[in-house]
Amino acid sequence: MKSSIEKTKLPRLAILGAGGLGAEMLVLLQKRLCANVVALADKSGFVFNGQGLNTLDCLEGLVREKKVSGILGAQASDNSIEELLDLNAQNIDAIFYALPNLPNEFIPNITKQIIHNSAFEGVIVDALKRTTAVKLLHSLDSELKNRKILYLTGCGATPGMLTAAASLAAQSFIEITNIEITFGVGIANWQAYRATIREDIAHLEGFSVEKVNNMSEAEIDAELEKRNGILELVDMEHADDIMLELAGICSADKVKVGGIVDTRSAKKPISTNVKITGITYQNKVSTHTFTLGDETTMAANVNGTVLGYLNAGLHLRQEYGVYGLKTAAEIMPRFQPVLVKTAKELLV
Ligand code: NAD
Repeated sequence: MKSSIEKTKLPRLAILGAGGLGAEMLVLLQKRLCANVVALADKSGFVFNGQGLNTLDCLEGLVREKKVSGILGAQASDNSIEELLDLNAQNIDAIFYALPNLPNEFIPNITKQIIHNSAFEGVIVDALKRTTAVKLLHSLDSELKNRKILYLTGCGATPGMLTAAASLAAQSFIEITNIEITFGVGIANWQAYRATIREDIAHLEGFSVEKVNNMSEAEIDAELEKRNGILELVDMEHADDIMLELAGICSADKVKVGGIVDTRSAKKPISTNVKITGITYQNKVSTHTFTLGDETTMAANVNGTVLGYLNAGLHLRQEYGVYGLKTAAEIMPRFQPVLVKTAKELLV
């Protein structure tokens, strides 16, 4: 099967960010052949090849030099995303943001830059987590539409896979009373996922997005040391709430997100799950539970979902001309009808 797929016929993908998730996406795409990676960028520079990058060379360069500018053929740059898109936007069909969102405006500002200063027309997918960030992106909806860009936000594991699972599970009910998301993440070394761990620390009491953004690596190490490497997260500001509200499933206040992250062991401390409780049309209260297998890593669940939405986005944009800002929970069976019409009106 592998050899029958011609790389140059696949959608051309730019991966922005080459840390934990960005690098793992290169590995996943070697087995899930649904996009041709033509560009990779990080803080140090970018590399582009319109025929497709040699992803093994990229991974080898990243392991050796720990930065994109160390990959053969890469260009060093302090402004890599802007430079990459200035030169190559017309040769890119889709973008995956594997970037930190610190501060909350970081990814929305990159998006504004793409809308206003580049020729990019295609699909953008992210794995954004904060409610505030998704709200900021939502305000760009009409500008994205004008530029014929379809942007799918919140397409990681949570928000993402679990939010979509909640949208699906909601179909059994006529009213949702609460949705509870609990995630377990195990990573052997926090430096493999710097942004993810900083963003998680920002949810702890006494911390904020601004504070963690200004902390040194030594300060993050010290904070993790105090907690034996374990982060216990409760009542997080997570975009699953706004996404489920926008999709018409339930109001944001009915969605609760928390979890446990072990930064010193690859084993998940608890199983990741979402519980959807609602009332059926036959007046029964019930709960659906969707639990992820413990063997699936954060990278498998986030990047796998990102690719699923990337494919959905390319299809929706190309076949149906869908543009603007949509969330992972919207590209699902709808809880509320889009058009409320009487039977008589429908027959006219
Ligand atoms: P990371 O810190 O490992 O990597 C970030 C990358 O972005 C690095 O390569 C860095 O050089 C690059 N970068 C930073 N600033 C840049 C700039 N100005 N220009 C170009 N590149 C720049 O990040 P990670 O831990 O892989 O996380 C990536 C994102 O994924 C985070 O926003 C995190 O919140 C999100 N995430 C989402 C989920 C989910 O389930 N929704 C789960 C995990 C992570």
